[in-house]
Amino acid sequence: MNSMFNIYFSVIFTFYILFLILSIVSDSLDIFNMSPKIPDAFKEHIDPETYRKGIKYQTERIHFGMFSTVFSSVIFLAFWFSGGFNFVDKTAISLSENYIFRGLLFFGILGVAQTVISIPVSAYSTFVIEKKYGFNKTTLDTWIRDRIKGTILSIVIGAPVLAFLIWFFTYLGNLAWIAAFAGISFLSILLQILAPILIMPLFNKFTPLEDGDLTEKIKELCIKAEFPYSGVYVVDGSKRSTKANAFFTGFGKTRRIALYDTLLETLTHDEIIGVLAHEIGHWQKKHLLRGIFSGLIQMAIMFYLMGIFLSKPGLFSAFRMENISVHAGMLLFTTLFTPLSTVSGILFNYFSRKHEYEADNAGKKLAGTGKHLAMGLIKLSVNNLSNLKPHPLNVFLHYSHPPVLERINNLIKDE
Ligand SMILES: [Zn+2]
Repeated sequence: MNSMFNIYFSVIFTFYILFLILSIVSDSLDIFNMSPKIPDAFKEHIDPETYRKGIKYQTERIHFGMFSTVFSSVIFLAFWFSGGFNFVDKTAISLSENYIFRGLLFFGILGVAQTVISIPVSAYSTFVIEKKYGFNKTTLDTWIRDRIKGTILSIVIGAPVLAFLIWFFTYLGNLAWIAAFAGISFLSILLQILAPILIMPLFNKFTPLEDGDLTEKIKELCIKAEFPYSGVYVVDGSKRSTKANAFFTGFGKTRRIALYDTLLETLTHDEIIGVLAHEIGHWQKKHLLRGIFSGLIQMAIMFYLMGIFLSKPGLFSAFRMENISVHAGMLLFTTLFTPLSTVSGILFNYFSRKHEYEADNAGKKLAGTGKHLAMGLIKLSVNNLSNLKPHPLNVFLHYSHPPVLERINNLIKDE
């Protein structure tokens, strides 16, 4: 067997450690950046005790995030260095003669292992941290059901997808990446259309909004913006958490406006209209389409490179693999692709933050004022105990939305 310490190992390992350090540094900076002084925009809307509680909550969350990052990294590195991938592959080979079933077993065993490791992390976050600060409304029953439904969904969707990918990359040679790209693009668009009808109702109840006054105001706003939609629904978010949200689901005339029941409790009608005007702003500027399009480009690049590196013996040696196979190659390639996907993630976040400002400005124009949305953002940040002063490095790396204070300043300037 060739030595594992080759060029593939060096690239994958170096970036893995580099990103781990970067993540710990940016989290630590986030903690140092928190200030005991209440920002001016929030002074009248948060009492000092709640503000202090927010700082404690954020600090505890970040500490736990750092701990779970290090914990999962140690497990991953130990698994990698001890030849864990080879062990799982050999087990899958011994269980089936068929190359597709072997692949599914390989991903299946790793998937189960990952789920088992993630359970204590997720349980601690929900039932200890979120509960301590009064956010968690999930019962153990709901939580277990969510996990089971999620697992069944990922098997029902994931297994056929993996089977097709293994088949494409086994038989289609240089054309495999095109088939994979076309297949996955089709599926993800189909899922975007089907999710609101088939998947979301598995987790939440959607009931038509009964508040006549608010319904009228929403209708007025949508007519003014020429925004097509089929109805306004209330989502029972309070079943799981006190955190609030609003979103659209579906496309074109079947688009639904969904408001969390927790949002209706926290914000006034004007503020809800401000939030929806922002969402319509995204639609006016075609941000969703642009996001889907750039996602497709990234996927095409990924599958193209996957086709090139999938069966390079050096990649397999780097993970101490004894057999070369398409299924294992697909997985090992994703570790090689991490530096590129991280850079594209940073770029994606950069454009997403830009889009948030554009949607704020468009929403401000549509609603005639930015002050209701600004007030809505203040209330939501207080309600969710959001981090008001994230460190710029963390914003640059991870934030899809600009820090809330910057958005508020932008919304209320010249008003
Ligand atoms: Zn937005």
